[in-house]
Amino acid sequence: MPRPKNAMEIFTLLDKSNCRKCGERTCLAFAAAVFQGRKKIQECPKLDSPIIERFSDKPEDQNNVARNRDEFLEFLQNEVRHIDLAAAAERVGADFSGSKLTLKVLGKDFSVDTAGNLSADIHINPWVAAPFLDYIRYGKGLPASGNWVSFRELKDGQERYALFQKRCEVPLKRVADTYTNLFDDLVRLFGGKQVEKQFESDISVVLHPLPRVPIMICYWLPEDGLASSLNVFFDDTADRNLSIGSVFSLGAGLSQMFEKLALRHGFPEASSVGMSKT
Ligand code: SF4
Repeated sequence: MPRPKNAMEIFTLLDKSNCRKCGERTCLAFAAAVFQGRKKIQECPKLDSPIIERFSDKPEDQNNVARNRDEFLEFLQNEVRHIDLAAAAERVGADFSGSKLTLKVLGKDFSVDTAGNLSADIHINPWVAAPFLDYIRYGKGLPASGNWVSFRELKDGQERYALFQKRCEVPLKRVADTYTNLFDDLVRLFGGKQVEKQFESDISVVLHPLPRVPIMICYWLPEDGLASSLNVFFDDTADRNLSIGSVFSLGAGLSQMFEKLALRHGFPEASSVGMSKT
């Protein structure tokens, strides 16, 4: 079954009694929470199991995602075999030596050779390998402008923003709310830099998953009865240095990695979160 396209699609399935048994004030608020990944559909006790099944994450869906991702990675590796890697290195600000292009991913060396083989000082996760190759193959190599924008302001970002919130900003906020060392670890383990507070946030950290694609994470602490919040920003050149799919992949991948970090709270090295080689 297809995933819901928006919150209204979920809302139409609900009882609409606003009984609050799910913990939300209204059925509409619950539908929005499910769509954004803050609630699970089964938290409404008034739904029948076929509907719950329809909108629950199924293992086969996850397998499809993994399969598509692996196929895309293979496609990009093949593409890279047919380009001038030395010229690409110059365009995107990478080094080229022997037959290998190397650049920094989260502060660690990441390389591809002229045969499309990948090697790195960190574990090669598909969520970072595909954007790495996409950046080399299609990126314009524009220097960062310093203008921060949200994912939805990037070209073709609007229609994917709800999913981006669900896969990146919502889980990352959950981590920041519960794992107080998160921002210190971003700086210490992933070459991040705490910068002057942006957009009146309490904490702003900039990471470089790719040299010319910085990501800024801003966190607002809870205050005066207001809940905390977290937003992820990109330089406004991001959609020309990467496809929007790869920008999405970087955000979602980073978020997943930080969730693992929080789950293994207290581990002092990057190896504990699957980015370093073991
Ligand atoms: S429990 Fe279900 S019916 Fe009741 S408010 Fe929540 S979503 Fe609506």
